[in-house]
Amino acid sequence: MAKITVLSKEISELIAAGEVIDRPSSVVKELVENSIDSGANSVTVEIKNGGVTYIRITDNGCGISETDIATAFLRHATSKIYEKEDLNKILTLGFRGEALASIAAVSKVEVLTKQQSEQLGTHYVIEGSEEKLNEKAGCPDGTTIVIRDIFYNVPARLKFLKKDVTEGNSISAIVSKIALSHPEISIRFIRDNKQELYTPGDSDYFSDIYAVYGKSFAQTLIPVDFSNNGIEIKGYTVKPVYSRSNRSFQNFFINGRYIKSVTCTVSLEEAYKNSLMTGKFPACVLNIKIPPDIVDVNVHPAKIEVRFSDEKLIFDSVYFAAKNALMKEDKPKELYIPEEKKPTENPPKNDYKVTVIQPKEEYSSKQLSFSSEKIEYVSEKTDESITVKPAIDEEKPENFKYISNSSFVKKPVQDEEIHTAENKITESKKIRIIGEAFLNYIIAEVNDELLLIDKHAAHERIIFEKLKAREKSFDSQMLICPAEILLSPEEYSAVSENLQTLLFMGFSIKCKDKNIVWVEGVPSYLEGVPPEDIIPETAENLINCKNNPQPDAFDELFHSVACKSAIKANDKNDIRELTALAENVYNRGDIKYCPHGRPVMIKLTKKDIEKQFKRIL
Ligand code: ADP
Ligand code: MG
Repeated sequence: MAKITVLSKEISELIAAGEVIDRPSSVVKELVENSIDSGANSVTVEIKNGGVTYIRITDNGCGISETDIATAFLRHATSKIYEKEDLNKILTLGFRGEALASIAAVSKVEVLTKQQSEQLGTHYVIEGSEEKLNEKAGCPDGTTIVIRDIFYNVPARLKFLKKDVTEGNSISAIVSKIALSHPEISIRFIRDNKQELYTPGDSDYFSDIYAVYGKSFAQTLIPVDFSNNGIEIKGYTVKPVYSRSNRSFQNFFINGRYIKSVTCTVSLEEAYKNSLMTGKFPACVLNIKIPPDIVDVNVHPAKIEVRFSDEKLIFDSVYFAAKNALMKEDKPKELYIPEEKKPTENPPKNDYKVTVIQPKEEYSSKQLSFSSEKIEYVSEKTDESITVKPAIDEEKPENFKYISNSSFVKKPVQDEEIHTAENKITESKKIRIIGEAFLNYIIAEVNDELLLIDKHAAHERIIFEKLKAREKSFDSQMLICPAEILLSPEEYSAVSENLQTLLFMGFSIKCKDKNIVWVEGVPSYLEGVPPEDIIPETAENLINCKNNPQPDAFDELFHSVACKSAIKANDKNDIRELTALAENVYNRGDIKYCPHGRPVMIKLTKKDIEKQFKRIL
């Protein structure tokens, strides 16, 4: 081991700074929070190049006195707490005394600040924790702080910054959240000389929501006003019919601080239980005021996670706040019956026996007959034979693909045919279909193995693999009327950065201002799925698969397409189809699980069976 030494102030400052400041948006968050704590009722944030080269925050708050300015930039210097008891009653956004020190450690900072009682203000410059200037200057009351060249002295960090537009979007998202949490403060956000956001500061949550998310979103909301045991919840929550396909529009603020809280999310969603379709999530802007002693905000350096001493109280309060709001709004017009697009409805035919199907000539039973044209199943309930036609049937909508022999034979890839991975089949083995159990499990025999194949799962996986393996771009279906969709800043950023990939997938999208996208075309394979559902969902997948947007980002999409287009349990398929499917699954080594991870095939060897029957030991 090398000798132990205490790190230099410069290095320890850089290490500590890394905890609080990891990108331009964390600078903005800290500085705007300082402005709010200073009592300002007007804050302007201006950035250039995604905040990487320039951030300016101006407020009309209390200012910093000439005597305090240098101290403010020392680590653990704060005017917000003095003794340990103060930690239990924090009502300010900052209290750790770390932000200014951290920012100054990794950038070039210039401050102009003046308190009302002072004649002259102070002009202060600090770069990489080193004071460069401290002089008197004429300036208005309040504070203006300019941050230039973030990470100019930490090239490793600089390298990790994303494109300016992405960094800018992250700042925009943070400013929006802060604006939503403080309707009493007028917030202006200017990006590359263009004003992107202005809230009037009229203490009305609705004006803020309108300014941040736009008119169409604001119109989908119902007000929340609730109090319970010292907890007060105000804001808006979405009408169930306008729920979103992810959680990015869920905003919870505790005492004016944006937080992420599983308790709040779960209780909100509980209140919406049975009002939403699966896969849909409520959106909200809820400002929760609670006594500061029941929340611990000191559990996360950026204070985005908090801990409650009484989780149940918070859970109940959010639940009842949302539930009450929903009940008030629960008028018939809100009733929403999801139009389930089931391509084919087979009447429920419960309790089928395991049915043995064999060529007629080989089996003479009247009930169990097979010909190439029709299959008969025996219904246990009615004890009657039900005759069905082969599965390829004009009544079925086009987008509902059924397997047939021809789906699996080797043939050149055609335009509209999805490229298959059949060439993975090495040595094809012939399979004898014995029958089908419960109208879903193919029973088959090959060599000395007995196979049970879940036909829906297997077909789903095959379609999924075909979609994933496709090398040509997907056809697009142009919408008669382009859909205008509001996204969260993160979603918007993900979409705007992946327009080419999305085009390949069949989406024709134009990015407008204010996180709005115009969807002009959607992939033909998603025909009928509302763009309002699919675009946020796709954007979220793009966010989650940042490093490899194609093809993983579209897995979810392919899952749902595959699930929709695959044959279903209870579908009736003729023996050729079942054989083709079984051979495909058996001979291809890569079809082991359905896209959701359920097994596709179970094998029993002759030996296993003989052991069970004690023929062999
Ligand atoms: P904290 O906010 O945790 O106290 P900071 O490092 O962010 O720590 O700020 C240090 C101190 O500088 C604050 O406690 C506050 O007194 C002062 N300060 C920072 N920004 C402002 C501002 N915009 N207006 C007035 N005072 C400020
Ligand atoms: Mg602070």
